[in-house]
Amino acid sequence: MAEQSVAVIGAGIVGLATAWHLHRDGHRVVILDPAPEGDKASFGNAGGIANTEIVPAAVPGLLWKVPRWLLDPLGPLAIRPAYAPRLLPWLRAFLAAGRPAEVARIAAALAALNGLIEGDLAAMLAATGLAGELHRPGALTVYESLAARRRDEAEWSLKRAHAIAAEDLSGAEARALEPALGPAVACAVFTPQWCHVNDPKQLTDRLREWLRAAGVAIRAARVLAIEPQGEADIRLALEGGEAPRFAHVVVAAGAWSGILARRLGERVLLESERGYNTTVADPGVALQREVIFAERKFVATPLSIGLRIGGAAEFGGLDAPAHPRRAEALARLARIYLPGLRAEGGVAWSGHRPTTPDSLPVIGRSLRHGNVFHAFGHGHLGLTQAATTGRLIADLLARREPPIDLAPYSIARFQRRAGSRP
Ligand SMILES: Cc1cc2nc3c(=O)[nH]c(=O)nc-3n(C[C@H](O)[C@H](O)[C@H](O)COP(=O)(O)OP(=O)(O)OC[C@H]3O[C@@H](n4cnc5c(N)ncnc54)[C@H](O)[C@@H]3O)c2cc1C
Repeated sequence: MAEQSVAVIGAGIVGLATAWHLHRDGHRVVILDPAPEGDKASFGNAGGIANTEIVPAAVPGLLWKVPRWLLDPLGPLAIRPAYAPRLLPWLRAFLAAGRPAEVARIAAALAALNGLIEGDLAAMLAATGLAGELHRPGALTVYESLAARRRDEAEWSLKRAHAIAAEDLSGAEARALEPALGPAVACAVFTPQWCHVNDPKQLTDRLREWLRAAGVAIRAARVLAIEPQGEADIRLALEGGEAPRFAHVVVAAGAWSGILARRLGERVLLESERGYNTTVADPGVALQREVIFAERKFVATPLSIGLRIGGAAEFGGLDAPAHPRRAEALARLARIYLPGLRAEGGVAWSGHRPTTPDSLPVIGRSLRHGNVFHAFGHGHLGLTQAATTGRLIADLLARREPPIDLAPYSIARFQRRAGSRP
C-alpha cells in the first residue's frame, strides 16, 4: 500500500525548492538523492538570477559562429567527437528551435515563466530566513565592439518586447558603474532586473538544512526506476533493492532525469551541457554586479566567497571526464576585460547543466502516470527558475489552476508523432 506522501527525486536546488512548496502545502515529503550533500550543478553555478534571459540558445545566425567556436579547443562550445552520433537527435531539435517562429514562441514561454520568478523566489527566501542571500544590483552585458552590440540587436529587441529593461551604455558609462572594467569594453547593456545570490552552494545547503529541520525526510538513496502500481500508488526501485511506495513522485534529478523519464516510457531530449568556472577568493578587482562578456560567452559574478568566472558549453554525456583547462582558460580570458584581475590560486569547478534543445525546462505531469511530475531540464537557468518550478509543481499536485499555461513545458513536446523521424 502506498504511503500518502510525496517523493522528490533529487536534492539539487530544483528538488529542494519543490520540496519546500510541497511541505508548505502540508504534504509529507521525502527527498531521495544518492548524495544529498554532494557536489552538483546547484552548488557551483554562477549564482545569477537571470530572469531577463528569455532568448533561447538556438537563434537565427548561430550556425555561422559554431564552426569557429568548435575549432578553438578552449572556446565557448565543445562537442566530444565520440559522443557526436548520440547527440544527433538533440542537435536536430536544437536547430529546429532556432527557426524565427520557434524563437518567438520559446521567448514568450520563457518570459511567462521568468515573470513569476521575482515573487516566487522572494517568498521562498523570506519564509526560510534566506532573504539576505539575494542581491539586486542588476547585471552588465559588455561588448568589445559596437558592431557586436549591433549584431545582437534582434535579441535585445525581443527582450524589450517582453518588458525586460535594457539600458544601452557607452564604454565610459559602463566603467563608471564598474571601475574594474578596462578599455576593452566598448559599450554595454545594463539590465536592472537581474539579481545574484551570495553563493549558490550556501543557498542550497541552507535550504536543505531548513527543510530537514522542518521535518522533511532527506534520504541517501539512488532511484533506479519509477514503477506505477495504481492510482496514488507508485513504487520506486532503489539501488540496494528497497522499493518504497508513494502517492506522488517528482522527478528533479537534474541532468540524470532523462534516464528516469525514459525508464518510465517517456521520450525526452535532455543532455548534459558541462560548464566550467574558477572562483578567486582574492581577485584584486571588485565588481558590484554580474558581468556578462557578450562575444566570448562567459560571466563573472561577485559572490561572497570571491569572484566566480565561468561559462562554456561542453557536450560529451554524463560520464565524460571534465577538462579543467577550460576553467583556467576562462579566468585568463577575463583579464581582457578586467586588467587588474589576479586569477592565481583560483579554484576550478565543473558541473552538468540539464539542457533541452529548446531552452525550455520540463515542468508538468508525466504522460504515463497522473501522479508523477517532471521538474528538470532548466539548462542555464536552474537556480533562476527553481522556486517557480516548485510552485508550479505544487499547483499541479493540488489541482490548483497554475498562473500560466504550462503546455510549452510539457514532456509531450518530445514524443514522436506517427511518421516522424526516429
Ligand atoms: C557553469 C555553470 C553556471 C551556471 N550558472 C547559472 C546561473 O548563473 N544561474 C542559473 O539559474 N543557473 C545556472 N546554471 C544552471 C544551474 O546550475 C542548473 O540548471 C541547476 O543547478 C539544476 O538544478 P537541479 O536541481 O535540476 O540539478 P542538480 O543540481 O544537478 O541536482 C540533481 C540532483 O539529482 C540527484 N540525482 C541524480 N540521479 C538521481 C537518481 N537516480 N536518484 C536520486 N537522485 C538523483 C543528483 O545526485 C543531484 O544531487 C549554471 C550551471 C553551470 C554548470
